[in-house]
Amino acid sequence: MQPDKEQLEARLHYPLGQALPEPGRALGVAPGVKWLRMALPFALDHINLWLLRDTQDGREGWTAVDCCIAHDAAKAQWDRVFEHALESLPILRVVVTHMHPDHIGLAHWLCQRWTTAQHDCHLWISATDHAIACTASQSTTGFGGETAAAFFASQGLTDADQLAQIRGRASYYPNLVPAVPRQYHRLMDGGQLTIGGRAWQCISGYGHAPEHIALHCPELGVLISGDMVLPRISTNVSVYDQEPEADALTLFLDSLDKFLPLPAATLVLPSHGKPFTGLHERIQQLKDHHADRLAEVLQACQAQPCSAADILPVMFKRPLDLHQTTFAMGEAVAHLHRLWHGGQLVRSRGVDGVFRFRTA
Ligand SMILES: [Zn+2]
Repeated sequence: MQPDKEQLEARLHYPLGQALPEPGRALGVAPGVKWLRMALPFALDHINLWLLRDTQDGREGWTAVDCCIAHDAAKAQWDRVFEHALESLPILRVVVTHMHPDHIGLAHWLCQRWTTAQHDCHLWISATDHAIACTASQSTTGFGGETAAAFFASQGLTDADQLAQIRGRASYYPNLVPAVPRQYHRLMDGGQLTIGGRAWQCISGYGHAPEHIALHCPELGVLISGDMVLPRISTNVSVYDQEPEADALTLFLDSLDKFLPLPAATLVLPSHGKPFTGLHERIQQLKDHHADRLAEVLQACQAQPCSAADILPVMFKRPLDLHQTTFAMGEAVAHLHRLWHGGQLVRSRGVDGVFRFRTA
């Protein structure tokens, strides 16, 4: 029997127990580091944001890490934070780990809100995620529309109704991220930020977002892991229509190795779930999880050539709604592509236009 989610989670440690920040309030998790938790109207029902005590150009204030989606309800949550959690100090800059809507949605609003004649509140983000967020907020990249529907069809999704809905979701990203700041400060792997007099090191990660940046503070023993390492759910690793031949899972698994040199006692601040210790255990769990899925996928393709749609019931043993189906399809393609790029599967395209994979 493989351990279930609860058994795996029991091997991690939550130093704050069941404590959660109250809506609109911040909970201290380390010196100068505060935790905010905001509600999301998705299956993923919340996101964690962080406030780091900072000084910029001689000004006292906060660095905010991640933003929540650009909905009025999220702005209202921020308004309560401005009132109760900032100790009457301004937000000086906004760091965004990656371009997904729950992380970057309100970056434009926050930067504008906190820019004054004396201080420019800038967005700090990787160049890749800035560029792709700008494109996606003005188009239909990756999350819906005609090219997404064609991509899913080529991966075996043939249900006309579902494809029509995907075509109709062209404005998914712009609805959640209507604007992105034109100017930004570029974050790069190995780069260092000084926040409140402490050094934070940037660790890039791939496979979940174009160029995700996690932040590690050796002095505090704290890692802001973003979505790269989550305590309970496994990070979504998908292939999207914009990069239809990507090997996202290999990129993700290789990126996890970059966290292995961090100390065992590191306090991990994830974007979803609770702060935890047990980074190395969690990385191993994620590797095991994907190794199991890859073995299942390989076995299915041994029996007969499979499209990504054929793989869904193998990988996901529960009914999926359309939103979950598109995520699951992206994940299925990511697993097939790791085996394909690794030479264990070969791919061919049928007269029906569908890619199918069989063992090499
Ligand atoms: Zn994400």
